[in-house]
Amino acid sequence: MRIVLIGPPGAGKGTQCQRLLEYLDVPHLSTGEMLRQAVSGGTREGQQAASYMESGQLVPDELIVGMVSQRLMRPDCRAGCLLDGFPRTLRQAATLDEFLERQAMTLDGVIELAVPRDELVRRMLLRKREDDDPEIFSKRIESYQRQTAPLLDYYARQGKLKSIDGLGSAEEIFSRVCEAVEGFVARHDEPEDDSA
Ligand code: AMP
Repeated sequence: MRIVLIGPPGAGKGTQCQRLLEYLDVPHLSTGEMLRQAVSGGTREGQQAASYMESGQLVPDELIVGMVSQRLMRPDCRAGCLLDGFPRTLRQAATLDEFLERQAMTLDGVIELAVPRDELVRRMLLRKREDDDPEIFSKRIESYQRQTAPLLDYYARQGKLKSIDGLGSAEEIFSRVCEAVEGFVARHDEPEDDSA
């Protein structure tokens, strides 16, 4: 299974990702995690990414795409993976599609964790983590809406999107996530329609 999980900052993506990883038993491809490692390791990519990350902006597409394609080429990703935090722009999505096609791989489905903006802000205020500076948090929401939300339409047109309600307990949300995955599995197992 190759699945993308999309959601605005504060949607609870981290929690759902962890559960989903256990359920699917596939590698976790988190670009945020890869970038944080690059920053703490002081690599060239990390140095380039740091200022964007600190200010709540997306890092340039070229930097991310290189990192992700290298990771996807590793043998453990052959049978599938959970893409978390990537793609985040239309350009990244198109590049991913081209890459997967060249590698004869497919994306089974995309899950959107949908949470209204008011609720995201309310959660952020409750959480008050160090990296949740309200101004930076708003920037991250803005960049989600401007750059990432258009992907929902992109994947809906490919018939790959399943949007689920991100409100409720972690258990309730996870059962919706599993339902979405089962839908992808069913579609995956359907015989190809060659009548067209
Ligand atoms: P995350 O942990 O996924 O929220 O990512 C943390 C930060 O890393 C983001 O706020 C961005 O600055 C950067 N980042 C992570 N993934 C991407 C991506 N696919 N494209 C651009 N920037 C990214």
